[in-house]
Amino acid sequence: MLGRYRRGPCCAPVLLWVLLLPLAAPHRLSHHERRDRHVQDRPKLLLVSFDGFRWDYVDRVPTPNFHSIMDEGVYVEYVENAYITKTFPNHYSLVTGLYAESHGVVANEMYDLAWNRSFSMDTDSVYEPRWWDGAVPLWVTVQKAGGRSAAAMWPGSDVKIHGMYPTRYLRYNASMSFETRVERIVEWFSAPGGEAVDFGVLYWEEPDESGHSLGPQSPLMDVVIAGIDEKLGFLMNEMKKAGLYEKVNLIVTSDHGMAQLSADNIIELDEYVSRDLYTWVDKSPVVGILPKEGKLDEVYNDLADANPNMVAYRKDNIPEHLHYQHNSRIMPILLEAKEGWTIVQNRTRSFMLGNHGYDNTLRSMQPVFVARGPAFRQNYVKTSMRSVDLYPLMCHILSLRALPNNGSLSDVQDLLSPEMVSTVPVPPHSPVPPQQAAGYSYAPVVGSFLGVVMVLCFLVVYIILVTFKQRPSLKRRSWEMSQPLLQEDLHL
Ligand SMILES: [Zn+2]
Repeated sequence: MLGRYRRGPCCAPVLLWVLLLPLAAPHRLSHHERRDRHVQDRPKLLLVSFDGFRWDYVDRVPTPNFHSIMDEGVYVEYVENAYITKTFPNHYSLVTGLYAESHGVVANEMYDLAWNRSFSMDTDSVYEPRWWDGAVPLWVTVQKAGGRSAAAMWPGSDVKIHGMYPTRYLRYNASMSFETRVERIVEWFSAPGGEAVDFGVLYWEEPDESGHSLGPQSPLMDVVIAGIDEKLGFLMNEMKKAGLYEKVNLIVTSDHGMAQLSADNIIELDEYVSRDLYTWVDKSPVVGILPKEGKLDEVYNDLADANPNMVAYRKDNIPEHLHYQHNSRIMPILLEAKEGWTIVQNRTRSFMLGNHGYDNTLRSMQPVFVARGPAFRQNYVKTSMRSVDLYPLMCHILSLRALPNNGSLSDVQDLLSPEMVSTVPVPPHSPVPPQQAAGYSYAPVVGSFLGVVMVLCFLVVYIILVTFKQRPSLKRRSWEMSQPLLQEDLHL
């Protein structure tokens, strides 16, 4: 019967369908193929932190891998991180865009006055979600929007935050090598069958540990820094071998820098105030002091002008620009040592040659920042940014709507490639109501897709009507021909 169509005037609809079939062909992919392609086409991002990698380490010794990323991407010279410049607060700021007073992880050692519980990064208290639930880390937002995430030892990433772990993660184990962590992350970004992750975080403990024990001025740190560059090279090479290097946006940064200490620069609290009057919370150089009941004024007066190299703040007098006041985990009195000074109760405590935690405007506290990938400009140097700006930038790269945060996309959008900048909303940064947050911006894609389907449906209906009108005798056969194609389109 098809011969009749070929010879007759009604072969036109058939020819039209033949012409339209290539348009429909991509939709004939299997469900798994479509899901795989969908996952592969989504923007990808890997955030790496080398703990305690100070901004100037990249020029202290040859670091060809860091410089390779700078040449291929972007480099920010001055990154103002979050106060206090400690590991846990800053790693949570990087993935939430919030200052410590807002996300609630205000120190490595905490006491919650309202909850009457203590937190230490060295105990299992780390795994209590309540310490983290004051904010939503980016991996949770990715997953709530239907994406997948991976984490290798990033602080907090092995905690069930807002009822969720990262899709793939490693429980913290300091003895696991950097290379093993990289291999797992690369494996998760490369997973087949729609299992590939969209966002990953990777953490390494050095050069922080060496910086503490050796002091940043030690010549021995040169070897440590060169070793970190080699580890970065390993990561880049593994990404290249897996075909990820040109697809996955790579950000390499840190939580803080490191200051040189001296055995001569010690402040002993026992000289100024009795231990019976207070509880010591968190460690030097920013010490939280919890006075015993009714002893606030006495303890503060004892400490206020005790030492010229230490500032004592009542909680309500902590400077605004530090963004470190409005949280029940911030103690009634805060002691801050001047750069290079150490606060102890007495000298029996072990002493380090390097430390961080000081004022976040100090240059020695600044971390490194380099990035490359399809979302970033090439060979571009930016003077300054705040580390909280990274969160809205990452959300934009991942096509996610950012949750309310302290950062500003407009302040860092010049880091992006022209194509990415063109998609920045106007006005570029505006507060997002919480109920609208955490959703992929797939509306344009869905809209285009529905438009194509509607056009095809219209054509089908039009052809059917024309065919019916011109060849009434072929009514039934024509409908039978159209039916399968129509059904397939509708199931796209
Ligand atoms: Zn750290």
